Parts: sequence; structure tokens; C-alpha cells
Amino acid sequence: MLLCLAAPISFAQPVNYWQQQVNYQINVALNTSFHTLQGEIDIEYTNNSPQTLNHIYMHLWPNGYKNRQTAFAKQQLENGKTDFYFANKTERGYIDSLAFSINGAAINWQYASIDGKLHYDIALLQLPQPLYPNQKITIKTPFFVKLPDVFSRLGHEDGIYCITQWYPKPAVFDKTGWHPMPYLDQGEFYSEFGDFKVNITVPANMRVAATGMLQNQDEFNWLVDLANGKKVNNPSQTNTKTLTYLQSNVHDFAWFASADFNVLYDTTRLRSGKEIQTWLFGKNINNNGIKYTQSGLVFYSDRAGEYPYDICTVVITPLKAGGGMEYPTITNCGSLDEQTIVHEVGHNWFYGILGSNERNYPWLDESINTFYENWHDEVIHKNNESTAYASAGAFGLNVNFDLKGINGSITSYMYSGRRRVDQPGNLHSTAYTDMNYGTVVYAKNPLALFYLKSYLGDSVFIGMMRSYYSQWKFKHPQPEDLINHCVAYTRDETVKDFFTSALADGRYDIVFKKKKNKLFVSNKLNGKGPIPVSLLIGDSLVNTTWIKNSTTDYINLNQYHSMPQNARLTVYQQSLPLELYPQNNQLLLKNKSTAAPVKLNLLFQKESATRTNVFFAPAYGYNLYNKHMAGVAIYNSIYPQKRNEFVILPMYSFNTNDINGYAQYWHNFYPTGKIHRIQLGFNAARFATNGLITNSLNAETQNNINQFGALYTGTSYEKFAPFITLHIKPKNLRSEIVQQLQARYVAINEYERNATYFNNLNNHIGVAEVSYLYNNPNVLYPSQFSAAFQQGLSTSTISRLGADFTQHILYKDGEKTASLRLFGGTFLSPQTPAGNTIGGNYYERAMFQGAGTTGVNDYLYDYAMIGRAENNPQANLWGRQTILRDAGFRSFVNIGSTDKMIFSANLTVPFPISLPIGFYADASYANLKSITNGNQVSYTNTFSYMAGFYISISKDVIGWYIPLVQSNNIENAFNMGGLSNIFERSSIIINLNRLNPIKAIRNINL
Ligand SMILES: [Zn+2]
Repeated sequence: MLLCLAAPISFAQPVNYWQQQVNYQINVALNTSFHTLQGEIDIEYTNNSPQTLNHIYMHLWPNGYKNRQTAFAKQQLENGKTDFYFANKTERGYIDSLAFSINGAAINWQYASIDGKLHYDIALLQLPQPLYPNQKITIKTPFFVKLPDVFSRLGHEDGIYCITQWYPKPAVFDKTGWHPMPYLDQGEFYSEFGDFKVNITVPANMRVAATGMLQNQDEFNWLVDLANGKKVNNPSQTNTKTLTYLQSNVHDFAWFASADFNVLYDTTRLRSGKEIQTWLFGKNINNNGIKYTQSGLVFYSDRAGEYPYDICTVVITPLKAGGGMEYPTITNCGSLDEQTIVHEVGHNWFYGILGSNERNYPWLDESINTFYENWHDEVIHKNNESTAYASAGAFGLNVNFDLKGINGSITSYMYSGRRRVDQPGNLHSTAYTDMNYGTVVYAKNPLALFYLKSYLGDSVFIGMMRSYYSQWKFKHPQPEDLINHCVAYTRDETVKDFFTSALADGRYDIVFKKKKNKLFVSNKLNGKGPIPVSLLIGDSLVNTTWIKNSTTDYINLNQYHSMPQNARLTVYQQSLPLELYPQNNQLLLKNKSTAAPVKLNLLFQKESATRTNVFFAPAYGYNLYNKHMAGVAIYNSIYPQKRNEFVILPMYSFNTNDINGYAQYWHNFYPTGKIHRIQLGFNAARFATNGLITNSLNAETQNNINQFGALYTGTSYEKFAPFITLHIKPKNLRSEIVQQLQARYVAINEYERNATYFNNLNNHIGVAEVSYLYNNPNVLYPSQFSAAFQQGLSTSTISRLGADFTQHILYKDGEKTASLRLFGGTFLSPQTPAGNTIGGNYYERAMFQGAGTTGVNDYLYDYAMIGRAENNPQANLWGRQTILRDAGFRSFVNIGSTDKMIFSANLTVPFPISLPIGFYADASYANLKSITNGNQVSYTNTFSYMAGFYISISKDVIGWYIPLVQSNNIENAFNMGGLSNIFERSSIIINLNRLNPIKAIRNINL
């Protein structure tokens, strides 16, 4: 059942509804040498409101590109985009030469202050006389626009002119008052309906696409000939032509021009027989673009209401605000992608014809429109199974998801929903994080509408939306207008829940509870609305029962006596696609099992709704002691987040002939309030190392080990570290500041390597740690702070406190990042030697090194090291692998260590050239400790420094640091170690943690 043309109930027109009428006549000329517009505008403004107006707000949106202080400029930075911030004056844009007059008399005007902020892209026009209800005025002004480069929607690039949000335009005045709004990239618009007559003067060789109907027959014929591939004369660019466009019942006018556009043309016939001119403009285009436009026009006309205009145009442009942007009867798209074109064409309904306030209620246009776009995809392609695939690269995993249709929306919403960082679906557009604008407005909300459609059935849903359309077309429907309409149309109060919960802050995790022969279903989370329980045999849907009250309503299982083996009751994903954990809501009717069977997949696949996925991947590892290792990684989660997550990575070493590897497990809790996620779990590891056995050895013996690795040539370590991590919720989600508190206990067992595991457990080292992490990812000035306190509890006496702060600064148009790191540390109770031992050399390893830190000092085994006990830097490259911690010197050199006080600073300044090289400097001031033969301890305040240049081999992952100048104590230490030339003194820093593909993928941003 597709069409339901007549609404079964007739609706009264909205009571006392009114809207202003704003008609435009614009003359504009494009100058392609200076990339400017010169124009004059004549606005006929009719006050249909019952109020008398004394002023009018006028948008001057090209001024959004005027400087770094505009709302647009600020939002770009907040969303992590620095292009506009670093743009020079010639790349920016503005509108000026304004001289407003009303009914022929010049008036005063000023830039508007809204909520205490001055906006150069909003003007406040004082009316010389009050504008009474049902009266009209004429507002005129000349204007001049300097077109920016394309940073968002308006601008020019590669000879293509995108003339959008370009002319002075009154803000909407509706029942709640004025709606002035600055130009923004994230957050769209709200405008008054009216009639447009626009005369556009351009060089004669340009091909122009615009809102409305072209009035010049010669030009029309020329374009049709171009589209048909006929030989046409190409006029000289030194001549100009003036083209006239007319359109009524629209609230905006956009146009696009380029001498390089190719043109395609066809007509689209709607089911009613109505024909629509269908145009495609762009440099690289093909007939698919026309096909997708036609498909969208017919689909939306059938299911939302007939397209009322006579033309629909798609232009392919280099726009930078998402994949596409809608204007009345014309849309621009970044590519010929089918979904983008259908989506943008669809905006003619949800934005164009139903002119809601997009800035305040993005769900009324973006969400409903994306729902229709997904629905189109589903109907046209019948795609029920999305494919996701992974490809393994040398430096991590690249996972490509199929982000099409409803499956794409599910994938996208789960990303933020599972982590509980999603936001309600009915917020103001500027309240969303960059990510949630995608995962909520474009994913969660469309799923909520699929849920509603599934509840109502296609036929009722279509009838409801078509009658909403006929009632509200060419008007400004508000959220309550749509919601009231849907409830009245369906005569079902339940429908309200879909808007006030599913499309708001509702989350869904349906669980099945079987009590004897009754199956109860309920939502563990806060979402409201009826719960669908579907009977499936194999993969085919038999029927669906909607449970409205989960405490009293249930499914009687007696009716399913003689069901085949593969019959099950489940919450079908297509019926309630907002379900966050589909694995826990099914009942196999044969054995009454509610557990989802385990399914083993290679690498990574899209999570199955009916199986518990476990993934595996072959793994290879290497370090200097185990040498080559081969094994398999087994994990249950990469994306989206699960409540329980684990990774096991056992690897067989071909050198030590034993099993080594990692294991990780944690449970995610999502409390409400200040802490928004708690992880409770453990990390475990076992690998071979060299010479690092810390207990019952004296300091001198330890030196022997450190210098020559002679005492034990083969050792192993085992680590088990239970932890709890609290993720603190940012006050304002858009700030994206990360704060974490962690407590952990690290148990380390070091022993002489032989065939056994868990050797000498009684002598294990135990250290408790409390740490805090703050990360501000500000796009221009990112900074981090971290602090940690460690207290030895078993076979260790350390009580170590350290804190560091790093400030980064972007420069050279955002291409380079300089950073300064400051560090301070101390031991709360320094140990004095007793006899020849001072708490074992584990204590020595944990002391702050005066300069660089190597694997020996990684006493909690937190870093992935290829060589962790190579204290003789000449021995091989891996002896020069340095850890950026504590004093953070970029070269390892042994100048002593301290358990008293240390301060250090580390500066990194990339050269402002295209090569990845730069300058670095490290300095420390430390109370270095020395022990003489007679066990006398002394401390010396020592200032040390070194500076040189570095080559970044792989950004943030591998760097090579070459020292050029250093303090005398470092020079001496180098010489004592026999390191004479700068290459021997150089070090390599490898951030192996960055190469962990599982960690890398957990941090992906969609
Ligand atoms: Zn859109």
C-alpha cells in the first residue's frame, strides 16, 4: 500500500495563524576579475502580524566571513576547523556599501547586538514610522559583496561561483517574535516566504543555475542545446548578459555560475502527470545525477506531498558545509553521490516548502528529511544487510562502514549512544557537538521516525505526513504543530511518545524476561513508547505485537507450541532501530533460550543483532628478547562500545619457546550525574626482558646488570593490574574536555626466565597508583595536564609524585604545532640506604632520571618497548629508544637520578617549512642523588640541558632526536659512555602505543 491521497479526517486550518510576506526584486552583477557582486535590492515587506513593528532585523550574512570575531568564525574553531581562522584578508568576504531607505527615505541603521554580542552579519533597521498590521513598506539598498573563498557555502573556487546567503534579508517575525540569527556553518536558517524577481548580469560565457524559472528563452534554448550535446556558439567572456529568474512561494534565492559547467537536462513526470524541468550542472557530471533527482522527486511527491514547483536543479560545487546544501528549487552537492542528491532534493519539502526554523529545530528539517532519504534508499535498493569490511594496514586498521540508509544510521547512532555521549534529538542546532550533529540529528532521529512508521504502518504514516504537508506547505510549522497534527490524525496519544521520548532523550535497551509461559519485555533505559515483539521464522518476519504497557502486557508463549527449530521472538531491528543492545532481546522458541549464540569472525565485521560477536585476527610481535612472536588476537569489541569488553593476545615466541602476550578486560558502567562512565577491569601482560630482577640485589650488582646485562641474561616479567577509571562528564558537551580519574594496583613479577610461569610470585612487587588526566583538545591551543601518585605496597617502598603540563600552540596557518612541557616530581619519603641495599634496585629504577628515561625506568611496564633493558646505547638502535616521561629529555644519557626534587622543561618547535624537522630543547633542575662506596648518600643540585634538532619520521609516532649542544655534565656522561659523535648520541622515540590498532580504532571519530 503506497498511496493514501485523501486524508481520512479533515483538519481545521491553524487558528489565527499568520506570517509576513516578503517579496524581492534584485539586480546583481558578478565581477569575475575581482570576485565581487554589485547589486541593488528592493524588498516589499508586508506586516501580516497583529502587532505594530518599529524596527526590522536584516541579515547581512556575507559578513559572517568578515573577520575572526564572527559567530561563524568562532564556531568553525570550536568544531576543529582552522581554515577560516588562518585565512588572509583576500580569502575572506563581506558585504558593504549599504544605504537603506524605506519608502524612498534614507534611514538610520546599525549592527545588531543580540544577547550582548555585536553581530556584523545582522543589521537593525529603525523604521521612521510604525508599520501597522496589514500595511506594507518598501526597503531598498545598494550592496556590494566581496566573495570569500569557499569556507562554508558562499564563495568562489576553481572558477565556480556559489552565490548563497548573499543579499540583505529580513529575519523572520512570527508569533514568538523576531528571529535574527548570525550566519553559521553548523545550524541552518529560517526565512520568510515571498516572490522573487532576480536579474543576474554575468560574463556571456557563463552557465548559470538559479532558483526559479529562467525568463530568457534564448538562454534556455542555449542550455538545452548544451545539455543535448549540440554544437553551440560560446560567447566571449568580455560581453555580459542579463538573465531574469522568477519564483513565488519560496523563502530564499541561490545561484551558481561557471564558464566550465557542463549541463544535463530532462523532465520528471510525477504520478499526477505533472512535469518538472530537471537540470544538472557541474564540471564532472553524468546522467546518474538526473536519475537520482527524478527518483527523489517522485518518491517524496508520493510519500510527503506533490512537488509544487516547475523546476528542480542540482549543481555540483566545491561546497565545504557537509555533503550538500539545499536552496529552493536548487541544491548544491559536493558529489554525484546518490544519497546526497536524494537528500538535498528532499529538502525542497523539509526546509523549502515546510519552512520550519532550522536553526532552532534541526530535527524538523534535517532529521525528517534524512528519514525520507533512508526510506528511499531502503525502497529503491531493498538493502537489508549492510556490509562492513576491514582492511589491515601496517600501521593500524582501517575500517570502512557502509553508512548507507537505515543501517548507516544505526551504525552511526550506536557510536555515540553506546558510549552515552549522545544528546537529545530535539535540541537547538548549535547545542550539538560536531559528532552528535551527525549521530543524533542525522542518525538517531531518523531512526525514531522509522520506529514511528513501523508502529503506524506505511499507509497511515504516509497519510499523516501528506496531510501535514497540505496543511502547512509554504508556512512555518513549529514542533508542536507537527506533533499535534500526528496525534490528531492518528487519534492515538501514544504517538506523542515518539516525539517527546524517542526523538528527544529516550534510549532503548529492551530486555526479555520469561515467567513460566509469559514473556515480559521492558526497556532498561529511559525511552518511552510501545515495544514491538516480532515472530521470525529464520529471517522472515511473521508478525509483530506492540506491547504498550510493559508491566501489565505480555506475550503468551502457549500459542507457540508447534514452532519450527528456527523460530524466535525478537525485537526486530527495523521496528525499533533505536535499540542499543539487540543481542539481549530474543527468545528461541524451541529451547526457550534467551542467550545469543557466539559467532566467531575474522578481523572485524558489523556487529550482529542476533549473535554475540567474537573477533579474531592473526598477530605478530617482536622484541629483542622474545624475538619473533606469532599468535592470535581475540576480542569482542572495536566498535560500537559494549558493556563488557576484552582483548586477549597470546603469542608464541620462537626464541624463548613460551607463550607471551597481553590480556585486557573491563566492564563499562554508565551512571547518571557527574561521572558518566566507569570502567572496571584489568590489564595483564607477560614478556621476556633482560637483566631486570630487582629484589634482593644490592645497588652495585644492579649497576652491573644495568651496564652489561651480565648477571641474568634471560628474565621474564608478568604484570597484572586491576583498575577503575572514572570519566568525568564535561559541563558543556561542546567543550569536549576530557577528565579522568584512575586508581589501579600494579602487581609485577620479575624472575629468571625458564620454562615456568608465575615463578617466585611471593616476591612480586605491588604498587598502588592514583592518577588524574585532563585533556583540552582546543583546536588552536590544546593542552594536557596529568598527575600521578604511586605508593609501593609490596616489596617496594616508593612513594612517588609527579605532574606534568603541556601546552601546544598552532602556527604557520595551523600546519605546525609547537609545544612546551613542564614537569615536576618528588618522592614523599626518600629512603636512606641500610647496608648495601636501599629497598632493592626497583627503587632506583623508579627514581626520576635527571635527563632521558629508557625502558629500564619503565618500572610499571606501561610502555610497549622493543628493547627495554638495553643500557648500552651503542649496542644497537633499540638501546636508544627513549620514553617521553618525567624529565622527558629526548636523549637517554645517564647523569644520575633523584628521589628528592626535580623540575624540567621540554620545548619543541617545528621549523616553518614543509619538511618535518624542527628544534628541540630539554632542561632540568634536580637534586641528584649519589651513593659513595661507604654508603654515604649525598645530593647535588644540578642544572642540565641539551638542545638539537629532530626529524619526525612518522608524525606523533616515530622521531629521531640529534643533540647538538648540552651542559657539561651531559657532555661528560656522553664521553664516559664512549659516545663521541652526534649519531651515537642521538635517540629514537617510538610511540608504540599509537600503533596499537585496537586502541587506534576505539578512538576513531566518525
Ligand atoms: Zn540536510
